[in-house]
Amino acid sequence: AAAVAAAGVTACGTIALSMRLEEDVKLDYKDVLLRPKRSTLKSRSEVDLNRTFKFRHSKREWTGVPMVVANMDTVGTFEMANEMARHGCIVAIHKHYTVDEWKAFAAENPKTAPYVCASAGTSKTDMAKLDAILDACPSVTTICLDVANGYSEFFIGAVKRVRERWPNHTIMAGNVVTNEMTEELIMHGADIVKVGIGPGSVCTTRKQTGVGYPQLSAVIECADAAHGLGGFVCADGGITCPGDAAKAFGGGADFIMMGGMFAGTEEAAGATVVRDGKKYKQFYGMSSNTAMKKHAGGVAEYRSSEGKTVEVPHKGPVAGIVLDLLGGLRSACTYIGAATIKEMPRRTTFIRVSQQLNQIFGSHDLGKGG
Ligand code: 5GP
Repeated sequence: AAAVAAAGVTACGTIALSMRLEEDVKLDYKDVLLRPKRSTLKSRSEVDLNRTFKFRHSKREWTGVPMVVANMDTVGTFEMANEMARHGCIVAIHKHYTVDEWKAFAAENPKTAPYVCASAGTSKTDMAKLDAILDACPSVTTICLDVANGYSEFFIGAVKRVRERWPNHTIMAGNVVTNEMTEELIMHGADIVKVGIGPGSVCTTRKQTGVGYPQLSAVIECADAAHGLGGFVCADGGITCPGDAAKAFGGGADFIMMGGMFAGTEEAAGATVVRDGKKYKQFYGMSSNTAMKKHAGGVAEYRSSEGKTVEVPHKGPVAGIVLDLLGGLRSACTYIGAATIKEMPRRTTFIRVSQQLNQIFGSHDLGKGG
């Protein structure tokens, strides 16, 4: 009996020791608001949303509005890039264009090149294609190395190899949500670390796996780690409105990446469906059944889909969405007294809230089309 009891104690002890619980509160954008502050800014036209970056590894300088359209089939298109470049914003071009399509695009649109990234995963095919694209398009100098789970040794190795192969290109790599992996990626060659696991509008990772991290806290913690090493972070996913964008920058994001915000626009890929006289466009996650059928001939048996497919009401030209985002950001800056995006974290005090919007009339704005 003594032996059984001892074994029981050991077994319980092992369980208690191996499982951990973090008790401190982690936050999403919806859990906070920005506290308004006295300032000397007279109007939102005094706010400058451009920022200049100098990157740790590539040593390149880039100036623009640090908003990035996600490298998803539907929104990370060349059409989107030409329009976004006019506003100084970036598009991470999805990885399914051919090298010839890239070549033609770069030759025909020299002004857009500084505002695009070439995306790749870590497969041999992706790596070879990335090399071919960068060889064919010398004006493209930013790379987006993107995997769903940035926590593998293999991914770190891939970042290191791409850094060695392209020493003067700016590399954005992710996704991760914690400080130690942010540091690891920066030390192995990333200039910008992409932050976000599970917050995306068409992402089902949290539902399928139970894995994730509240996005605002992830951004705050990873930004702190990155900035200590002279690196930057890109807050990827979960931005649903201009206010969320302001909160991301306030939390320390250097760049923000969005997919859903740009879905349903004229520049997004995909057919328009008309139902009951209303126009919609399809939008899907990059690991949804739709994407896997399109690019990989179906979902492999050993994995499940971690993205969904939705129909988004037509939003018209993307310029309308961009101007709404930029206008909201400028206004946020004047409320908190920041003259630039770079100043936002210094002027940010988050207030924890239990309600942020008055929903009495729902969320649809008849004045905003769609
Ligand atoms: P959104 O701005 O739409 O909220 O989030 C866009 C981000 O969602 C993308 O940049 C990417 O990180 C993530 N994402 C895109 N497709 C998928 C998917 O199929 N599954 C998951 N887990 N994340 C996705």
